[in-house]
Amino acid sequence: MSAKVWLVGAGPGDPELLTLKAVRALGEAQVVMIDDLVNPAVLEHCPNARIIPVGKRGGCRSTPQAFIHRLMLRYARQGKCVVRLKGGDPCIFGRGGEEAEWLSARGIEVELVNGITAGLAGATQSGISLTQRGVARGVTLVTAHTQDDSSPEWQALAKSGTTLVVYMGVSKLEQVQAGLLEGGLSADTPVAMIENASLPQQRECRSSLADMYRDALTFKLKSPAILVIGEVAARSSDGAFSRADHHRNSKLARTPDGLVRMMSNYAASIDEIN
Ligand code: SAH
Repeated sequence: MSAKVWLVGAGPGDPELLTLKAVRALGEAQVVMIDDLVNPAVLEHCPNARIIPVGKRGGCRSTPQAFIHRLMLRYARQGKCVVRLKGGDPCIFGRGGEEAEWLSARGIEVELVNGITAGLAGATQSGISLTQRGVARGVTLVTAHTQDDSSPEWQALAKSGTTLVVYMGVSKLEQVQAGLLEGGLSADTPVAMIENASLPQQRECRSSLADMYRDALTFKLKSPAILVIGEVAARSSDGAFSRADHHRNSKLARTPDGLVRMMSNYAASIDEIN
């Protein structure tokens, strides 16, 4: 395969949530450029590829986007099969669209591969159905963190009548809360804050719009986390979903030593971010 870049979603963390197509792309890859939020355990699918970490967090110096672009272009022009592996879905707050356009404009073939985005996975792993007949007729994915530091239209979102799933919201909890209250969303609207969704160290803090900031402080909520705001967030997670899944995660303990090491490094690096 020549001059091709796959922009691949690695899902939220649980390696079992990788798609079969992502596994195939990794199997064909000669170069894999990996973001920080990707669980390194998925690299078992590309044992022969050159791995290049290009993350922007985790205490490392950030890799400028322009450099990532040029690196992808260089390897693709060498005729290498390149996989750009991103956390969650490449096109949900993942710059997948931007990178695809940039590469296509330079004549590089690009293929996008969906991943399960953290917001959807986090809710499901916590037993929350983001849409539910008679309770929520839609869902809005929104980031609390914009490049120009402007605020999302919280007041308009408060009136949307959909479940809100907020990404990158941990450092903006007060603004999210204030904006939605000002927009008229009821103070007792349920809120679920889900940290490290789908990983063995997943934690959930259940609260309400009135108390979310205070409760998150007490809980010591850390990034990466998503916020689910709406009636469906009151649904209990004491069902079998999350526990069954965490149990499956323990299978990682049976993977080769190296991977277990990578997993512990991963957990450590997530801690460092916070
Ligand atoms: N493309 C990614 C999102 C990248 S933006 C996706 O589709 O999931 C980074 C944000 O995603 C984090 O700040 C956090 O809000 C969310 N996130 C990513 N992984 C997460 C996880 N395992 N648990 C909770 N939130 C996560």
